[in-house]
Amino acid sequence: MRIDLHTHSDRSDGTTAPADLVAHARVLGVDVLALTDHDTTEGWDEAATAARRAGVRLVPGIEISCRFAGHGAHLLAYLPDPTYPPLVEELDRILEGRRSRLPATLDKLRRLGIDLAADDVRRAAGSAVAMGRPHVADALVTKGVVRNRKEAFDSFLRTGGPAYVDRYAAELVAMVRTVSAAGGVSVLAHPWASRHHHAALDRAGLARLADAGLAGVEVDHQDHDPATREALRGLAGDLDLVVTGSSDYHGAGKLDHELGCNTTARDCYDRLVDLARAAAAASGRSAPAVVGA
Ligand SMILES: [Zn+2]
Ligand SMILES: [Zn+2]
Repeated sequence: MRIDLHTHSDRSDGTTAPADLVAHARVLGVDVLALTDHDTTEGWDEAATAARRAGVRLVPGIEISCRFAGHGAHLLAYLPDPTYPPLVEELDRILEGRRSRLPATLDKLRRLGIDLAADDVRRAAGSAVAMGRPHVADALVTKGVVRNRKEAFDSFLRTGGPAYVDRYAAELVAMVRTVSAAGGVSVLAHPWASRHHHAALDRAGLARLADAGLAGVEVDHQDHDPATREALRGLAGDLDLVVTGSSDYHGAGKLDHELGCNTTARDCYDRLVDLARAAAAASGRSAPAVVGA
């Protein structure tokens, strides 16, 4: 069974519509697929309909923009009730932060001599609800300023880069609790990716998150080299955290992240689903189930 628990559609910064993402999973022999767009559940319904038709199991998820010890961190939330008010409020606040960041980013670019209009970025964002730096990058590519997203990030948009603007992110420990209260389970995405600062996400940091209810850590991810994966796998074992592996697929938006390039073991997936079921029962929320299971 091939299980891929972290993918993006064009409702955030992927380039594939949710239904096409499911179809792509079916072609590549991925049996279980989680849709985890940044800060939105917008693609869930379309993906669910496609999954039922294609015979692919779909795990509805969200990759939530968080902050821990002053640095960005991404939290994968699986199977939470998307109508749970504290979750809705935080996601709205994050999305508003994404929208209000755009004018400030364009301002910084203008000062660097690059004249990009908000409409150029909106066009690049297409049907995305979660607008972000990748869409600014795409607009810069269209304009011929850079060749690809990576160059746009390296030259301008990376954290601390000349056109970088900070935005609102949820507090990580509180969000782990919110996801549980919404009847879902949370897994920390690519905690030791080199592009993120992971000093605070050490043994003590992960233990604190585990105490708050974190269910797992994403170990097998393209941004973790083999030594990093082994060290993180050991730590996850010590802390009794579920180990996951995923592609972080973005369609044409990210190279070397093809669907199914990393996968999650069957027993780890089963444990996550069991934990979600327990969280849903404890929360009293009507959390979604895995589609097609
Ligand atoms: Zn991420
Ligand atoms: Zn992601």
